[in-house]
Amino acid sequence: MSHRCHIGLGSNQAEPRAQLRQACESLAALAGTRLLRCSRLYRSAPMGPQDQPDYVNAVALIDTTLTPLALLDALQAIEQQQGRQRKAERWGPRTLDLDILLYANQQIDSDRLRVPHYHMHARPFVLYPLAELDPDLILPDGTPLQHLLQNCPAQGIEAIADMPAQG
Ligand code: ATP
Ligand code: MG
Ligand code: MG
Repeated sequence: MSHRCHIGLGSNQAEPRAQLRQACESLAALAGTRLLRCSRLYRSAPMGPQDQPDYVNAVALIDTTLTPLALLDALQAIEQQQGRQRKAERWGPRTLDLDILLYANQQIDSDRLRVPHYHMHARPFVLYPLAELDPDLILPDGTPLQHLLQNCPAQGIEAIADMPAQG
């Protein structure tokens, strides 16, 4: 059985746009997975440490037969392939961050995985690209995405381009 999942992508190192394009190709190539669509790319101000470049963010919608933890493993492998270095500093610069925002209508709370993503409701660089893909989305707890958007101004983000073509 396959599940629709929304993945949040972010990068602020080593040609962020190319990182996101490569990440989409890798998502499309995962076992049992189809890449359905990608949002535009957004430039966003960094969270946490401010002495780092702006981010480029996007959201991708996939259809996958991978279980949530298998999907997390696969996303972390893609991060590794693209040179992600895990450091002690929270929200420091990175070549690639891939977060599971939503996994179908599931609510998951385990050591390694919380879905919906615990902080998505407060992140304009997640909510606005998500709304491009699925404006009528309802979260698993019944909250309409549009309600979250009303409480999260599009501050510090700007759509800059379409996702570059694959291939
Ligand atoms: P944030 O989670 O605030 O966006 P981050 O993405 O920089 O910060 P990471 O260093 O990428 O954080 O991930 C830390 C851990 O978060 C991962 O090892 C993973 O086990 C856990 N995690 C929990 N829920 C999720 C999720 N929905 N998607 C991705 N990772 C998650
Ligand atoms: Mg993240
Ligand atoms: Mg992450």
